[in-house]
Amino acid sequence: MTDQMSLRDYFAARFAAALMTATSADSDLPNLDYRREAGGPTLAERVAAIAYRLADAMLLAREDRAALASAPQCCMCGKTGLSTVEGDGGSECQLSDGRWTCSFECWERATEPAPPSPP
Ligand SMILES: [Zn+2]
Repeated sequence: MTDQMSLRDYFAARFAAALMTATSADSDLPNLDYRREAGGPTLAERVAAIAYRLADAMLLAREDRAALASAPQCCMCGKTGLSTVEGDGGSECQLSDGRWTCSFECWERATEPAPPSPP
């Protein structure tokens, strides 16, 4: 990947290459100027449109994963979608070690000292 290319272009190029390989497996390189319908898009335009659609879907999936990874999660019950805005009246609470709890119950469980081990 080069610096001049956006990640979207890079993904699209990869998908386009895969598409062209798939369509040209048993023949010569496809004619990029070929139009299936008169006045319709050329093969190049169709491949580019599909490639960018796939690239966008891939980027969206990456963003979703990144958002999920950075979203706070209750360290006790695993609840996500916590409100992390200070003073908004929510029951969420961040512990001094950076973990989050969703409710007073979870906060109590997270902060109570470990029970003494039986003798
Ligand atoms: Zn919880």
